[in-house]
Amino acid sequence: MADTTLMDKLVSLCKRRGFVFQSSEVYGGLGSVWDYGPLGVELKKNLKERWWRAMVHARDDIEGLDAAILMHPRVWEASGHVAGFTDPLVDCRTCKARFRADQVATASCPQKPSKAPGAHSACDLTEPRLFNLMFKTFMGPVEESAAVVYLRPETAQGIYVNYLNVLNSSRQRVPFGIAQIGKAFRNEITPGNFIFRTREFEQMEMQFFVRPGTDEEWFERWRGLRMGWHHEIGLTPSKLRWHEHGPGELAHYAKAAFDIEYEFPFGWQEIEGIHNRTDFDLSRHQEYSGKKLEYFDQAANERYLPYIVETSAGADRVALTVLADAYREEQVDGELRVVLGLHPALAPIKAAVLPLVKKDGMPEVALALYHDLRRHLPMFYDDSGAIGRRYRRMDEAGTPFCFTVDGQTLEDRTITVRHRDAMTQERLGLDQAATWLLERVAAG
Ligand code: ATP
Repeated sequence: MADTTLMDKLVSLCKRRGFVFQSSEVYGGLGSVWDYGPLGVELKKNLKERWWRAMVHARDDIEGLDAAILMHPRVWEASGHVAGFTDPLVDCRTCKARFRADQVATASCPQKPSKAPGAHSACDLTEPRLFNLMFKTFMGPVEESAAVVYLRPETAQGIYVNYLNVLNSSRQRVPFGIAQIGKAFRNEITPGNFIFRTREFEQMEMQFFVRPGTDEEWFERWRGLRMGWHHEIGLTPSKLRWHEHGPGELAHYAKAAFDIEYEFPFGWQEIEGIHNRTDFDLSRHQEYSGKKLEYFDQAANERYLPYIVETSAGADRVALTVLADAYREEQVDGELRVVLGLHPALAPIKAAVLPLVKKDGMPEVALALYHDLRRHLPMFYDDSGAIGRRYRRMDEAGTPFCFTVDGQTLEDRTITVRHRDAMTQERLGLDQAATWLLERVAAG
């Protein structure tokens, strides 16, 4: 049963605390498009940085890329998107709701939520129909069919058509990978669940080019590494699982595909796909462009089209996963405490500096500490209201630590460190605060 209350609370917290706002809200919003506020942009940036570090900086065999969103329209013919990028959909003639044909069995009828669409006596479903999900626009001053370009529906194609450029300009040899983070656009027919399925989103994709015959081994290796990454960012392991695509589910390009799924309040859903795409993409681009895209293996003196193992995650979808996983409510001294238990590396604000009272020289010491620390990390200074309320505000924002300047600070130059999760307190020398915090943010 979907826990819609939890999602409602999360959406409301995201708005209240400046994580996520509806796009163009003053005009009534734009369907399934969202904006990231001050805390949300930090969270998403931290997530992308961690991905980039794990995939590019920490490895010798992966290079980064930032390809343009607009590409030659032939790219999308070669990729199969112009012909086949469609989700079959089913409409209900009675309530006008629309469902993805492959999700009818698990969706609920808007008029009778305990039943699936079609199972309620009033339902009148159409046969599944196809819609193209690519956004079209025009390049140049004339709006004619020859000027049509698409907003890319995935970042992967920018990697495929650049793979020889990257190879020739770097020291890489197969096996090697190219990683990219960027926007993608899909005119989803059944978007929803907040930032889970949106029409504009960001992908974190890595395409790994391997010698045919070694693809299965690399596929297994990447599956392990990617699941490990989701554990490292702090997601609850028991809420993560694998879903293997069966023969009927496999995309036209894939030899094998596994999704990493997370148990959201609205059920188990994909957050990342790991695909063995064989040489489908490169052979199609070779055919459509007329350019040789083979790799020459000098050591073995042979030419071949590499196979590709893809890892594809949505930055927004993983951000939602992190938020949903971190959200908790607790009763503390008869009061409700809402906490975002974010991993310190992902938390938008790393620590708050709070003078216990606004007098006796405490604000001066606290402000000096705040100014010193914010040279290294995002910090927050707060001197308004009771200290307990200030702690709660930081709990809701996911801030892992609070540094309080109190009477004792003025005597011995130590501060109180308050831990978000355990709510325990300890004392720390003022001059150790920066090192202490940097160590904790970098750890894990
Ligand atoms: P779904 O079945 O959920 O539509 P998909 O199988 O089409 O996803 P892929 O094309 O494999 O997804 O894209 C890889 C990743 O990109 C997904 O795992 C997801 O994290 C993200 N993603 C895809 N579509 C969207 C979307 N509309 N909104 C947000 N993230 C998305």
